[in-house]
Parts: sequence; structure tokens; C-alpha cells
Amino acid sequence: MPPSQRRPYPAGVVDSDVEPEPWGDDPKLVELLGGPGAAGFRALFDGFPEAVGVLWALRDADGRIIDFTFGYGNPSILRAFRLTPATRDRYTLLEALPRMRGSRAFDTYVRVCESGEPWVHEVTYDTPFGDGYMLGTFVQRTAKLGDGLVNFLTDVTAQRRMEGELRSYANVVAHDLNEPIAGIALLVGLLERRAGEPPPADVLRQLRTSAERARDLINGVLVYARAGELITERVALGRLMAEVAEDLRASLEAAAATLEIGELPEVEVDPRQLRRVLQNLLGNAVKYRGDTPLRVELTALRDSQEWVVTMRDNGLGIDPENATRIFDMFARANDQTDGVGIGLAVCRRIVEAHGGRIWAEAPDGGGSAFRFTLPR
Ligand code: ADP
Repeated sequence: MPPSQRRPYPAGVVDSDVEPEPWGDDPKLVELLGGPGAAGFRALFDGFPEAVGVLWALRDADGRIIDFTFGYGNPSILRAFRLTPATRDRYTLLEALPRMRGSRAFDTYVRVCESGEPWVHEVTYDTPFGDGYMLGTFVQRTAKLGDGLVNFLTDVTAQRRMEGELRSYANVVAHDLNEPIAGIALLVGLLERRAGEPPPADVLRQLRTSAERARDLINGVLVYARAGELITERVALGRLMAEVAEDLRASLEAAAATLEIGELPEVEVDPRQLRRVLQNLLGNAVKYRGDTPLRVELTALRDSQEWVVTMRDNGLGIDPENATRIFDMFARANDQTDGVGIGLAVCRRIVEAHGGRIWAEAPDGGGSAFRFTLPR
């Protein structure tokens, strides 16, 4: 894949195949809970999917909290922030995260530790953290544990990004809807002025076109908004493709299309959503076909960690300059055909929700190839 189309890791997530080295025993935890208690604590949180970390208060001669040391950290927190075992002995909290010094967050940590009153807040990090790095937006829950704190961090980076995107789409939709709605208002005004006369056919046709465009925009945004919700099961990709081909049979026949389907795997996906991806891609192959009879190939290749699925056609092809842009909401590269530019944005959202990536290539020999990955 061209590097420009490789998307960065979602924040806070590191290669999950690399198991972090455990931090070993936390003597203060043993002191607080006893051997079996500390073992139980670890057994509970070692397998916990969210990041969990313990901090112990460091007090001066007058008993004031001046810093915290690192206690137990579960594998999720070590993985999320790329923390090595050395972090615990090498740094205090303020050394590992200097921006906390004198901050409201530090004062609040002290208050939680002294009062036992828990604290919930959301924080965005993009900063070194000891030998590791913190990147992303987290909901952080902090509670007192002995003379220290336990932190639970939920990574909400992807949700916050999505919410931001949806907000900006709402603005674009409102803006784009103005055009067909203004058209409708104008045409209705025209009909009103000619009351008593039968409505001219071209005015009715334009009214229908504007109303359909407004409806397509609204439907597209709704589909997009729901594309991130998945109900997954194990399904044969070949079966989904056969269903899609059946749904599009009439337009495939009209395009004199040949469909070549390679050996396809079983995958763990939301079948409704993945069918939508295949439908959009095949629908586009038909829509953006050239003068020669359409040929579409669907193949899957097994990589070490994922399936790479390719739909290739012999149609108009994609200008490499547009290959990335066309996956954006409302982005189009062809105004000779009808469309609102939502189909590929929906594909991208669905594929990313499954943990994959999608991109387009201009293969040798013409046409276009749309590739997407699905984790195995
Ligand atoms: P729409 O089809 O409504 O424009 P899409 O998001 O499905 O929206 O596609 C975005 C753009 O990508 C299209 O306008 C077209 O220029 C280009 N495109 C998509 N699929 C193909 C294809 N198979 N061959 C050539 N161009 C394509």
C-alpha cells in the first residue's frame, strides 16, 4: 500500500500482537492487600481490557504529597502507552509526565488521595510518558487505593473523532440540502403563479429530481452515521458476494458484465454492513464502466494478520490524484454520472469499524482496484 494511504495507528493502540513485559510484583500492593489479596487484584486486572494503573503517594517530611510513584500497571496500560518495566523504577509521576507539575490535575490527584472522593474526567494526551508515549483522548476514573490511587483509562479517541466528523458532516449536509430545497421552493413558486394551468412536465421532472437528491443526501448521512455499529458473526464472503450480485443482477446484465469470483474466506464481520461495502463497490464498477463490456474480479489474499480483499474492474479508472480523496464524505471525481459522493465514505467507515483499511489503486492495464483489509 502506498505510505500516503496507510493510516496511523488509532491513538493509544500499539501492535496488539506484541505482548508487553509484565512489571513484576508491586511490594506496596502486597503490603496493602496481603499476598493473596495482591494476587487476586492482579488476577482481576491483568486480563482487564481497559488501562489500569496504580500510583502511590510520595510524601515529604511534613506528610504533604509531593509526587507519586508507579505501582501495578496492567498489560493494557503498558501496551497502550508503550511502557517498559524500567519505567516504574526510573521515574516518579512528575518525572514521567512533567506537564503535571503544578497542574490542576495533580492537585486533584492529591485531593482524591486525601479525601477518598473519586474523580472522573476526560483528557487528551500527546506527550512522552517516561520511556513511553501517551496519545489519544481518554475518560479517566481515579479512586483512592490505600495511600495512593488507582486509575482506569478508557480510550475514547475514535469516538471523539467520529463525533467531530459527524458534526462537520451535519454542516455540509445542511449546506448541500439548501440547493435542492431552494430549487424546490422556486419551482413550487412557479407552479403557484400558474395556478389553473396543468403543471408543465419539465417542472415536475425537476421537482422530482430535486426532491430525490435531497432524500439521497439525508439517507446517505443516516447510513453513514449507522455504519460504525456492528453486529458481527462468522460469514462466508463468497455468500455475501453472491447475494450482492443477485441484487444487482439487472444492472450487471445491462452492462453485459462478467463477474469472476476467486476463492473467498470466511470472515468475522457484520454481514449487513459488509454486504453494503460489496454493493457500493460493485455498484460503482457498473456505474463507472467504460465502453467495453464490464469485467469485475473479486479476490482475497491472506496476509500474516489480515485478509486483503480486492475488487478490480476494467472501467474508467481512477486518477491517482483522486485515489485518497474519493473516500471522503461528498467527494466525487466524476460529475458525468448521478451520485452524492457518500458510497465510498460509507465503505471506509464500515471497513475501519471492522479494524481494516480501504484504498484505491490504478492497476497496470487500466480500470481500478479497490482493496480493503479485514483482520483474521
Ligand atoms: P458517488 O458514486 O455518489 O460519486 P462514491 O463515494 O461511491 O460516490 O464514489 C466517489 C467517486 O469515486 C465517484 O464520483 C467516482 O469518481 C469515483 N469512483 C468510485 N468507484 C469507481 C470505479 N469503480 N471506477 C472509477 N471511478 C470510481
